[in-house]
Amino acid sequence: MLHEVPGRAGAASPGAQSASLFARGQAVFPDGTTRATVERDPTPRYVLKGEGAFLVDVDGQRFLDLNNNFTTLIHGHGYAPALEAVARLLRDGTCFSNPTAHEIDLAELLVERIPAVEQIRFVNTGTEAVMFAIKAARAFTGRPCIAKIEGAYHGAYDWAEAGQGGTPSTWGSPEAPVAVPAYAGTPASVADEVVILRFNDAEGARRRIAAAADRLACILLDPMPSRGGLIPPDPDFIAAVVETARQYGILVVCDEVLNLRQSYRGASARYGIEPDLIAAGKIIGGGFPIGAIGGSSRVMSVFDGSAGRAKVAQGGTFSANPVSMVAGRVSMEDMTEMAFTRLETMGDRLRTSLTAAIERHDARYVISGVASLFRIHPKQTLPRDYREAHATADEAASMKAMSRFFRDEGIILPAGAAACLSTPMTDADIDKIANTFDRFLATAPSEGEAR
Ligand code: PMP
Repeated sequence: MLHEVPGRAGAASPGAQSASLFARGQAVFPDGTTRATVERDPTPRYVLKGEGAFLVDVDGQRFLDLNNNFTTLIHGHGYAPALEAVARLLRDGTCFSNPTAHEIDLAELLVERIPAVEQIRFVNTGTEAVMFAIKAARAFTGRPCIAKIEGAYHGAYDWAEAGQGGTPSTWGSPEAPVAVPAYAGTPASVADEVVILRFNDAEGARRRIAAAADRLACILLDPMPSRGGLIPPDPDFIAAVVETARQYGILVVCDEVLNLRQSYRGASARYGIEPDLIAAGKIIGGGFPIGAIGGSSRVMSVFDGSAGRAKVAQGGTFSANPVSMVAGRVSMEDMTEMAFTRLETMGDRLRTSLTAAIERHDARYVISGVASLFRIHPKQTLPRDYREAHATADEAASMKAMSRFFRDEGIILPAGAAACLSTPMTDADIDKIANTFDRFLATAPSEGEAR
């Protein structure tokens, strides 16, 4: 049975102003918006403004925001120090074909913090960061293929998105997961150039990497894939991936676009991974567009064009634009070790309270996540990988009902994506999230009733 909440659904549905904007949007955009990821229930909610941990929609409804533009806004909305620094900068110009001191300022901070990063290049999105990391790995090794984790989202580069959206009818056997194409018309050659590994399957990773070793440029690894369930990696899985990669001269590329927010030194450092390259994005731009490729000087030398043409000539009209550089530097400077610790303590407190609520109600839910990230799964046991995290139709309906309940209580809870905390949140906000979940579970059919 679905987890319906009688009489509640729709109390904070998008209002008249959102409806009218959506009508205009539908005339000019293919589905009324310009992002596939826009949540709609049943139509999108248009934002008027953000205020710290909250956002206000165009109909005047206010919400605690656990989406934070898909985990980007670690300081919440309108972070004053970043905005003031950007405001000071704007009059002097927003983008140049020349370099600026601002790009060095942000680069120095990241190089100092992230152990795997000796050198870095900036781009504008996580998609580009992953794309250039893959190109760098190909150029460095002279090999065409990549291995990646089933179900992991890495943006829109063809090779990086293969296998990200498999379903039980397309994803193949557990021993030979399929590089399911992301859209019709994807060249078949893409699937031939992508080896899919299952997260936390150490034996499978060793076997599949070894079988394709002479063609593999890199293994693309998100240390805690959000769509894979937001589950931390088993040490033996990490060891299997890294050891096998080293054995065959394959590079390890960690996608930390989302998970850099796990700690002061990022996610690879947290799990003891020593990648050759990382892709970063989201939090390092202070709320403005950004991506970055970082790694060992040896591998990053493929971008070195000082003696002629670089092996990978990475450019980009807006790459390293001073606005993103300045906002990123200010935001990251304020993410001190103490700030990360505080967020993690709040995250631990929240996960503990959510789990206690599940136990109190003997409910069929489970909590995953680390540091400032969490997911609530309408499942009996913690998933170990994308297949186990994949929601059945009933589970997807329960998730939607839960998001609705939260929304009606003034909280934006992303359905099926990672929810996250931001520094302006307080213990009172954490308690509100936990209490809302507790009240949601109180409306649910008790365990043992038909589901
Ligand atoms: N990699 C990961 C792990 C991501 O979460 C995302 C974005 N959600 C991307 C890459 C792509 O980043 P962008 O949307 O900035 O292109």
